[in-house]
Amino acid sequence: MSFRGSASPLKPPTSKPATSKRPAKRPAKRKRRAPDPVKAWVKRLDRTRPNLMRDVLEGLASIHGHPQWERRLDPTSELILTILTQNSADTNAEKAFEALRLAYPSGLPPERHIPGPGWGGEGLSDGAPPDWEAVERAPFEELVEVIRPGGLPNQKARGILATLHTIRERRGDHSLEFLAEMPALEARDWLTSIPGIGKKTASVLLMFSFGMPLMAVDRHVDRVAHRVGLVPKKASADDAHDYFLAMLQPDEMYEAHVNLIRHGRVICHARNPEHDICPLRARCRFVDPKAP
Ligand code: SF4
Repeated sequence: MSFRGSASPLKPPTSKPATSKRPAKRPAKRKRRAPDPVKAWVKRLDRTRPNLMRDVLEGLASIHGHPQWERRLDPTSELILTILTQNSADTNAEKAFEALRLAYPSGLPPERHIPGPGWGGEGLSDGAPPDWEAVERAPFEELVEVIRPGGLPNQKARGILATLHTIRERRGDHSLEFLAEMPALEARDWLTSIPGIGKKTASVLLMFSFGMPLMAVDRHVDRVAHRVGLVPKKASADDAHDYFLAMLQPDEMYEAHVNLIRHGRVICHARNPEHDICPLRARCRFVDPKAP
């Protein structure tokens, strides 16, 4: 009997059975989370320029005082007035808002506009808010003519109609009083989910109508913040909102907003800022790139 060509049944096979050994698995590398740029900036500022925010607030208060919050208008009026101020002087926004009141009277009780020291206009006369339903139903061309004194009427009419439409679709009417019950950032998110409403407009409304701890960054606040070095050079005005929220205590936000706007309007002008009378000079990187 020949076993040629087949394995002997008596001898164990000489070759080792194939093993299924694989190289031991290395523990998976944990992905490092990218550091939060806002937290990183605040830490760095604390380390390299201690007490900067505190000194800025104190310096501003030394010449602009401590403004106290008062409700300015009902929230829907505040929102539409803020849309009317976009890229226009506050005085022109006031004219356009007064025209809305006249063209679409609501017959509601009159409101008193308390513009406060950061406002650049005269303040609205006492009057009832416009009938927002009538504004929303208004033909586009008609609304454009009504708000023309405010500037950029086509763009703003489009924004106002879309905003009123979205609020009514979501809520059934145009009231925004329900936002008072929400936490500040949730309320801001609700508003910024409306196309065309950014963090600045949402923060203005929530801060001035409800006294919520938010910080609105307009061009004046943004200019002073960049010049002093409170926010990174490359931070946009939109980003600056979050830097300020991380740097300020909730009860400092209203005063910081109002006083930074005032400062930008009356001393730290876009052209020819008045460094000599500015209480922030010693800490301002625009004047001295090595300021502490
Ligand atoms: S020192 Fe000059 S640039 Fe700096 S905040 Fe004051 S006015 Fe503005």
